[in-house]
Amino acid sequence: MSGEPLALYVHWPFCVSKCPYCDFNSHVRAEIDQVAWREALLADLAHEARLLPGRRLTSIFFGGGTPSLMEPSTVAAIIDSARTHWEPAGNVEITLEANPNSVEAARFADLAKSGVNRISLGLQSFDDRALAFLGRAHSAREGFAALQTAQKHFRRVSFDLIYALPGDTEDGWSATLAQALSLGTSHLSLYQLTIEPGTRFASMVARHEFEPLGADAAAALFELTDAMTSSGGMPAYEISNHARPGQESRHNLTYWRYGDYAGIGPGAHGRRLGRRTVRHRKPENFIGALARNGHGVAEEAPLSAVEGADEALVMGLRLREGVDPDAIAERFGLPAIVAWSRVERLVDSGHLKREGSRIALTARGRLLLDHILGEIAAVEEPRALAVG
Ligand code: SF4
Repeated sequence: MSGEPLALYVHWPFCVSKCPYCDFNSHVRAEIDQVAWREALLADLAHEARLLPGRRLTSIFFGGGTPSLMEPSTVAAIIDSARTHWEPAGNVEITLEANPNSVEAARFADLAKSGVNRISLGLQSFDDRALAFLGRAHSAREGFAALQTAQKHFRRVSFDLIYALPGDTEDGWSATLAQALSLGTSHLSLYQLTIEPGTRFASMVARHEFEPLGADAAAALFELTDAMTSSGGMPAYEISNHARPGQESRHNLTYWRYGDYAGIGPGAHGRRLGRRTVRHRKPENFIGALARNGHGVAEEAPLSAVEGADEALVMGLRLREGVDPDAIAERFGLPAIVAWSRVERLVDSGHLKREGSRIALTARGRLLLDHILGEIAAVEEPRALAVG
């Protein structure tokens, strides 16, 4: 596996406050010992590096949580260490997620100096009422100011918006999208609001404090998004991610194309050499595990051929470029991973397109990803053979 590409994910688990829709591994703490956290993340990184020698580092992604709350010197130390452990590829993509407020924007210059070359900004909305509903700590005005600062310091800037909020209309979302496309970034992540179990929004919906937007209205907004971003030169390359050609997130493409990635920091998932890894989620447990074991791994297990192939299919179908199920089957030593007769039926019904053995969702199919996966992956005979 020497020289094989490798992506590195670094999870910073802290936020200033908890957003009501958030089910990420994020925690609010009165005090954070930055030095202790730097040492912990560097030790966790060294553990992965020992198990993955000789790899070529293609991307680093600082996610969270709110990684723009990390000291830039900690970010720099992790980047430098990763570049020492692994041979960096020619142009390593180094992304950091940031919240758009003035405190964090003030750090952008230092983060750029530390080696970050791409920023992903959580704008979420251009409307103060929507931002208040989403429990965000920034205003629309602060968001625009942070975006300008980001564009001054980073050549590659992406931002996130959340749509399909209660009461969202096609006219309103179309005006927001037109504005988003005019802001000069090369990448957009556009997520529909989903009510995740265990979040404050889930309790509010259960208490009938608000009604989520209906499925038909949300689907209409998704189709509008597809049409407007395509004509605006930023088509979807994944269900929720849009980019100008060549500006796709290389790091996320590694996930979706089922490449290896090391995941360090609390709750981080990783996939290395056919094994899945999960770190301790709670920051205190993660630090405790590092002190005891020299790494933060909570669980590690080999992926079976069927699990690996299923994941590769699920991930790959999210991409506009689609996947080659026969190549996945060959990679995992399985006779087949899809029922081609069912694939053909979905091609006939306009939900999938097929070129040779490569398949991809159509615009219509993208609304029904889970359903389609259930249909095509339900392969009785070969699967039964493979599982045994
Ligand atoms: S800032 Fe991001 S990670 Fe933190 S609570 Fe809000 S949505 Fe979750």
